[in-house]
Amino acid sequence: MCIVIKEEASLDILKGIGEKTKLVFQKAGIETVGDLLNYYPRAYDTFEEPVEIENLADGRIQAVCGFIEKTLSIRHAGRFQIASGKIRCGSDTVAVVWFNMPYLRNTVKPALRYVFRGRVKKKGQQLTLEQPAIFDVFQYEEKVRQLQPVYPLVSGLTAHMLEKALRQAIDGMDLTRDYLPSDLRKEQELAEYNFAVQQIHFPKDIQAMHLARRRLVFDEFFLFILALQRLKSARETVFHSYEIEKTPDTDSILRQLPYKLTGAQQRVWHQIEGELQQKKVMARLIQGDVGSGKTILAFLALVQAAANQAQGALMVPTEVLARQHFEAFQDLMERCHLPYQAVLLTGSLPAKEKRKICEQIESGQASVIIGTHALIQEKVTYHQLVLVITDEQHRFGVKQREALAYKGELPHTVVMSATPIPRTLAVILYGDLDVSVIDELPASRLPIKNCVVGTSYRKKAYAFIQKEIQQGHQAYIICPMVEESEVIEAENVIDYTDRLRAHYPESIRVEYLHGKMKANEKNEIMERFLKNEIQVLISTTVIEVGVNVPNATVMMIENAERFGLAQLHQLRGRVGRGAAQSYCMMVRGNDNQAVAERLEILNKSNDGFEIARKDLKLRGPGDLFGIRQSGLLDFQIADVFADADVMQSASEAAARILKEDPELQSEKHLYLQKKLTSYMKNGLENLNI
Ligand code: ADP
Ligand code: MG
Repeated sequence: MCIVIKEEASLDILKGIGEKTKLVFQKAGIETVGDLLNYYPRAYDTFEEPVEIENLADGRIQAVCGFIEKTLSIRHAGRFQIASGKIRCGSDTVAVVWFNMPYLRNTVKPALRYVFRGRVKKKGQQLTLEQPAIFDVFQYEEKVRQLQPVYPLVSGLTAHMLEKALRQAIDGMDLTRDYLPSDLRKEQELAEYNFAVQQIHFPKDIQAMHLARRRLVFDEFFLFILALQRLKSARETVFHSYEIEKTPDTDSILRQLPYKLTGAQQRVWHQIEGELQQKKVMARLIQGDVGSGKTILAFLALVQAAANQAQGALMVPTEVLARQHFEAFQDLMERCHLPYQAVLLTGSLPAKEKRKICEQIESGQASVIIGTHALIQEKVTYHQLVLVITDEQHRFGVKQREALAYKGELPHTVVMSATPIPRTLAVILYGDLDVSVIDELPASRLPIKNCVVGTSYRKKAYAFIQKEIQQGHQAYIICPMVEESEVIEAENVIDYTDRLRAHYPESIRVEYLHGKMKANEKNEIMERFLKNEIQVLISTTVIEVGVNVPNATVMMIENAERFGLAQLHQLRGRVGRGAAQSYCMMVRGNDNQAVAERLEILNKSNDGFEIARKDLKLRGPGDLFGIRQSGLLDFQIADVFADADVMQSASEAAARILKEDPELQSEKHLYLQKKLTSYMKNGLENLNI
């Protein structure tokens, strides 16, 4: 009998998924069969013919055909159980290890031929095959040249579990009616939805995969753009009633600043100032590369709101950044002798203090409110919120931005972002916003000097840092991990700090910072770093967004190969924020050629836009086998840069449909309308843009 599985069905309708497995899937955000079907591969792999042992190369994923010489031996290391042995293949052998899979000792029979496929790692002189998957020889032959989906995994979730669940879901899937009207599908040459879902997971061949992917990418952009248009048209029909007049405070602040605004800052400020005075609600994106000076514009706008007896709020993604902005703002008020009271609202404040601050917000006593997501919590009520600003917008969802706006009565909104996307794309992606670009860095800045080095360079790097410190400067060192791990080999903050403390004289203070620390510990460390009581700060990427310590001149990034280019550019943006020459040293943890080429892009350019462009060129548009831009504009399947042409088509198609049928009320748009409603409820939420 054939049971039809509905997309809304809970995952445990599938065989083999019980309570425990369900929780694992939940961790990856998969609750229903529909979620599962929409859990797209992040890339595809092809399996190559097995190679000879002498052709194994460090860092690559390769297969060898051979047998295990002796029964595997098992040893314990901390929480881990390591199974190790030797694979013999002709006259050569290679070491092999598996973590936490002790049962292999019984299942992998010595002297039986298998194909082992995994990552080759070089330790000292010896090559090891790490955590290889095991195939019987015939099975592997079948797999060669088939496209293998690669899924984003969370701990506990394996590719095998996903494949099993997906096969069932797809086999039992209720063929749904396509929500795109057929004339649109024809015109855009789009595959049918059911076909797309099936072929994205289990592609028949590469053409089928491309067709499937193009359809799903189109859908994702299309729905997103329609949703934005909805938000925008809701806003356009209403006019703002609160008048925000110009204030003389602006000039007095500008006179007090230790610098003059750049031409680009002035231009964007005039736009904001002008729009604040208008009756129409402002909704503006300020795009500017790291260090272009976005913060001061936010401050000027906040003061303008405060000077008009109203409130302005600034929301940022981390506590460290919130505190930094709060302190900088207070400092500015003091220097300019301005009376506006600012408050800092973050999640980690003691309950009593939080209550006090909320009272000040509600009574209107506080006119400038700076904080994290805490600003949009239910219990916070504002007195007269007329301006909301989000900084580092790419860390928030569209929904969160809207949630802050809903705290006021149609307040003006400004969002700030350093995401380097070309204007043509920004206009589509932020379709509900007008876009301003700060395309100029302060003239006083010297370009950051970069280098990409191997780990053997560390001694020299430390000596260099020491010299900078002797001149009164400070340094950041970034490690990918918080603490040691058996599974991932990368530098960690804790051990690194110990090592560096032992290396430097005591007069150089070395401290660390990472996301698992308590909020007040983090704050204390940042405060001391800001005051130069700490000279070297060893940190994970918590430091990445927005932190501003202009006295820091060195950024050293360990295991640079582990970060995406956009992320590395953001990290590097923590230095070069003052007048002194700054440096960025990227340390490579392996000598993989592809990594070297990617890092070279950063080495040669300090311009976020150019980096994004070159990165795309290196990967090639539509390259599904390469590395995705991580952490930026993370659509589920679409890649803003690589799929720019599809985005353009989707945008044009959306405009046409809305012109023809603005409310999507006609018969042929019935299903699209339903899909859009559900997308606006669920899909938008998970999208950081
Ligand atoms: P971002 O755009 O990355 O948020 P910030 O607003 O934090 O950059 O500014 C970075 C640094 O540059 C800050 O120390 C700020 O005081 C300084 N700055 C801002 N504008 C100028 C300017 N026109 N000239 C010189 N320094 C400036
Ligand atoms: Mg900033």
